[in-house]
Amino acid sequence: MPFPDLGDRLAEIRGRIASARSRGGHEQRVEIVAVTKTHGVDAVVAAREQGIRRIGENRVQEALAKMSQTTVDVEWHLIGHLQRNKVKHVGNFAMLHSLDSERLAAEVNDFAVRSERRMPVLVQVNVVGEGTKGGFATAEVKQVAEDLTRMPGLEVRGAMTMAPYEADEATLRGIFAKTREVGTWLRAAGHPATELSMGMSGDYEIAVEEGATLVRLGTILFGARAT
Ligand SMILES: *Cc1c(COP(=O)(O)O)cnc(C)c1O
Repeated sequence: MPFPDLGDRLAEIRGRIASARSRGGHEQRVEIVAVTKTHGVDAVVAAREQGIRRIGENRVQEALAKMSQTTVDVEWHLIGHLQRNKVKHVGNFAMLHSLDSERLAAEVNDFAVRSERRMPVLVQVNVVGEGTKGGFATAEVKQVAEDLTRMPGLEVRGAMTMAPYEADEATLRGIFAKTREVGTWLRAAGHPATELSMGMSGDYEIAVEEGATLVRLGTILFGARAT
């Protein structure tokens, strides 16, 4: 059986999430998005067997390949940068976590309007302005929130962030708290923005303490990635 200790790992993680949630006091619902990138479809099946319903992939092509290889009932979440020539595939995903530019927003909106649907998206914020990571600067978000109200094909469900790997606890906490504040700005503009996608294997407990509703976990579930 692939990933034989996944059940034990999840039991531990779920316990840690519950503790972090009560320490944080935000009383939010927290869901795990199991990040299966670089792993085979067996990781998706194993996660589903352990009660996980949300699968995260950061590349469209890899995700589509896995979708075609399994019929297990999961939601696919796109968590990596969506290239403009792949926008036509976005409808295969339950949620786009990485809405990272106005141009991409306009294209996803056009696609959604043409296909008569509303696409659930999260606004990716780059809180510390790291050049290597995508997303909007926090100073831009209020304007972006306004602009997105004019895109009927998008359902803005919340905010997403990726913290730097090397950040210390105080910095992480600041980044996650700022992302939570971005969520309030999105709601003030009228969006149903109740989700905060933040926290990965190394920082999910701090993220949950700061209000995360979706934690994106890869390594801690499935082990080190091949690439
Ligand atoms: C790979 C990835 C993750 C998972 O990272 P781990 O440290 O393995 O948990 C989360 N979010 C995004 C956007 C990723 O690309």
